[in-house]
Amino acid sequence: MRLLTYTHDDSLNRLGAEVDGSVVDLAALAAHADVELPSDLLSFIQAGTTAHGTALRLLGSDSDAWPDEAVHQLDEVSLRAPLRPGKIIGVGLNYVEHVEESSRSLDTDKELPPRPVLFSKPATAVTGPGQPILHNADLTAQLDWECELAVIIGRTAFRVTEEDAFDHVFGYSIINDISARDQRRSGQWFFSKGQDSYAPFGPAVVTADDVPDPMALDLSLRVNGVTKQKSNTRHMLFPIARLIADITSGVTLEPGDIIATGSPSGVGAGMVPPEFLTPGDTVEATVQGIGTLTNPVIDAR
Ligand code: MG
Repeated sequence: MRLLTYTHDDSLNRLGAEVDGSVVDLAALAAHADVELPSDLLSFIQAGTTAHGTALRLLGSDSDAWPDEAVHQLDEVSLRAPLRPGKIIGVGLNYVEHVEESSRSLDTDKELPPRPVLFSKPATAVTGPGQPILHNADLTAQLDWECELAVIIGRTAFRVTEEDAFDHVFGYSIINDISARDQRRSGQWFFSKGQDSYAPFGPAVVTADDVPDPMALDLSLRVNGVTKQKSNTRHMLFPIARLIADITSGVTLEPGDIIATGSPSGVGAGMVPPEFLTPGDTVEATVQGIGTLTNPVIDAR
């Protein structure tokens, strides 16, 4: 299933499934069939496999019988960030070539990290598809991009083995791990990566049953139509299962939490000469099978 959070005619956020260019309001479809489904993605994830099964069954029913008010054309709705996560765990230096470019441009270690390099972004950093990335020239002259596969947690996970890790994954999306390179402070990345709008997220969450191999997805990023990043998730240094096992050795992951699995090479800081985002730019992050997350950069002083 391809799940979207959207508004229609100034409605509150609604949970929809994308089917053949249409958005189907899952709660409305369920109500029509005299069953219940949550109207937001986080509650849907928390409702577990029962809700998932109900949604699949309803979406498999004869669409001619669906009520008009439950179906919208994709171009009639406004997409929002899929959900507000409890937490976002970021993974630094998780693609080999990015480790190399970072050691040249960002004073990070040349050696491959022996364990995942973890940091966090607050929920307030999340912004949706089409929403602006805020460029505040009083705080940064080095605003940078990082296209990443986002793993959305489905079931609470603590001390999970690599073998069991995928039992705790709900689905996948895209995060652009926006970073103000000149706001790292004594090596700490929180203010560099945690500011408002620094986690563009979406446009959809694709459920794990529709992503047969998340470790074999092409990902790429363009700025103003020019390709800057191009790689595949198979080049991750620490694969998804290892990340989940490592994080949950000490931190509980809860439904709706996000792991931003790291950026391939091709970030602006690694270019010769370096390139950074400025107001007026448009950034498009694409992950195979998930879609393209597009955000403009605006002046936000
Ligand atoms: Mg990153």
